[in-house]
Amino acid sequence: MAKVQNGADLKGQFEPLSEDAIQALTDGASFRKGYQSYLHHALAEPTLSESVLRAWCHGSQRSPYRVEATLCPTGGESARPLADTFCRCPRGGFCKHVVALLLIWLHEPESFVVRSGLMGRLSMKSHEELTSLLEQLMQRQPDIAEQSHLILGTGSTSHVIKSQFSKLYPVDALYKLL
Ligand SMILES: [Zn+2]
Repeated sequence: MAKVQNGADLKGQFEPLSEDAIQALTDGASFRKGYQSYLHHALAEPTLSESVLRAWCHGSQRSPYRVEATLCPTGGESARPLADTFCRCPRGGFCKHVVALLLIWLHEPESFVVRSGLMGRLSMKSHEELTSLLEQLMQRQPDIAEQSHLILGTGSTSHVIKSQFSKLYPVDALYKLL
């Protein structure tokens, strides 16, 4: 079986980042708090899907925040390291969560699991979004309800359930819903 790629294998494909560059893109307080979040491993499940870094922050709110940063490939027209950043937290913008995500990428790229295609898109969905997606699938194809009962009956984790989605439903149709 081929070795599973992690972020360190692909880091060379993207414009390099530095702490100075991250600091220049945010305010002092967000950078300091983001550094603390990074040191305290506040972000979970870091993934790299195409050029998007993504992780979850289990903050004080009930549901975790999704944090993202889109990297720029090396040799692109703009020599800047980031194409876009995103966080669902109330502050939004280039918040401390984005800082923490980028510091993980800078110092521990190997902790990013590389996801591609459909699995990458499913992994960016929240629990609520996945539940609603499954509901839509069941309405379109009632067989899915029965098969889902079988999968849930085995005590699968949400990770396993996600990976079963593509087996339950034609990939093209699933892409349209996503
Ligand atoms: Zn945030």
